[in-house]
Amino acid sequence: MIKALIESLLKSLRLVEKKIDKTGKGSAIKAKDSKNKALELIESHQKNINQLVHQYSKKLKYSGLDDYDYKAYIKELFPEADSETCPHCKNIFDRVVKRARNCDQCNKKVVVRQGFVLTENQADQLQEQIELRFRYKSSISDLRDNIKVSDALFDGDYLRALFEIGNAYKALEQYDMGWSVLNRDVFEVKRLTNDDIGRIYEERLGFLRDEAYDKNKISKKDMIKIINTAFVFIVNLANNISDDQYWVNSHLINLILDCDTLRLNAKIPKRELIIMFDQFCTQNKVKNRNQLRKFVIEQIKGL
Ligand SMILES: [Zn+2]
Repeated sequence: MIKALIESLLKSLRLVEKKIDKTGKGSAIKAKDSKNKALELIESHQKNINQLVHQYSKKLKYSGLDDYDYKAYIKELFPEADSETCPHCKNIFDRVVKRARNCDQCNKKVVVRQGFVLTENQADQLQEQIELRFRYKSSISDLRDNIKVSDALFDGDYLRALFEIGNAYKALEQYDMGWSVLNRDVFEVKRLTNDDIGRIYEERLGFLRDEAYDKNKISKKDMIKIINTAFVFIVNLANNISDDQYWVNSHLINLILDCDTLRLNAKIPKRELIIMFDQFCTQNKVKNRNQLRKFVIEQIKGL
């Protein structure tokens, strides 16, 4: 997925530059159309997300979301469990089991959770379900309310609304949908300034990084791909900023900071990151290579 993303990204960068050129040239009517388009998009994503949330809730074995009753939950997961029966051989213990022990009859290990005697495997399953539920509660259940179509909620900041939608898809593990929001839908926002482009780049980099972490398969190779993507963002953003303004552009600085965090995670030495950036600039014939190189190196060294 990451490879495909980066390819589509390189294509979209040309698109970004075109859009920047047009900034400010649109008529009032065009701006209004665009605003409606953004609202329409946000609304349709909201519907889609609510449907996904509904499907996710159904998938969870235990549907009650508030007032979490662990005992009822364990009973629902393991109907035969109680406080005195061996879950392996059904031997009845001579007294209530209070802590982990081996069964007198089958000698297999039993553990106790909320007063219920369980096998270790059942205890793991329980833990997994609780974690799933917790994750659901913290990341998914709020989505329904958070992304309501409302000018007031976003203060007219449709870009922020779309970022939140992207994050919602990420939380629902719908990475392709989330990426298309950050890669395509963001251009439906009425006017994109350089600052907006910086925000989009930061958001995209965060998305790629989180996706890689979520899928738990971050190899050094993947990390280097993401770092190279960050370089694309840095160079493109820098192309729209004058050399002496680099240091006051928070998005540019943040992208460099993110690069360094990725570098640390991949256990890449600083000097290697600097060489990587330099090679990237050479390979991509970056125009203001020396100025930008100097700036990026200074920032990395100072971290
Ligand atoms: Zn037993």
